[in-house]
Amino acid sequence: MAELWTPTIAEFEAGQVEKAAPMSEGTTTKRKRKPHILAVINECCTGCAGSPACVEYCPVEQCMYWMKDPDQPPFGRIVVDPLLCIGCKLCTSKGPEGAFLEGCPWDAIDLVPTAEWEAGHGAMPF
Ligand code: SF4
Ligand code: SF4
Repeated sequence: MAELWTPTIAEFEAGQVEKAAPMSEGTTTKRKRKPHILAVINECCTGCAGSPACVEYCPVEQCMYWMKDPDQPPFGRIVVDPLLCIGCKLCTSKGPEGAFLEGCPWDAIDLVPTAEWEAGHGAMPF
């Protein structure tokens, strides 16, 4: 699935990205090293009608956040901050078959090798 537009690394690093709620909550400790994989939102993201199922699973403060769709208010979708994602996979984990489905019900989150992602977006500073 194609990746959706996200702000640039420089914009995230400069704190120029306006993040709206719903937003993930949790640790504010900066990651110590780059993860091997990053969560990337693809074009299947529906925004879950404003109640994203994924956000509550993310353990990192402000890593997943809401971005309004300027063309279709009040719709929007979720974005992952690549500088905050720790690649923990919690946003995509699924329960046992037939059980409560955790994470994204639309397969809208891809876990992409960091090196592959950086090849297309530039290297992250940390
Ligand atoms: S992989 Fe972990 S840190 Fe990254 S967006 Fe998913 S839940 Fe958050
Ligand atoms: S759960 Fe999936 S479809 Fe819903 S907002 Fe999150 S990434 Fe998008």
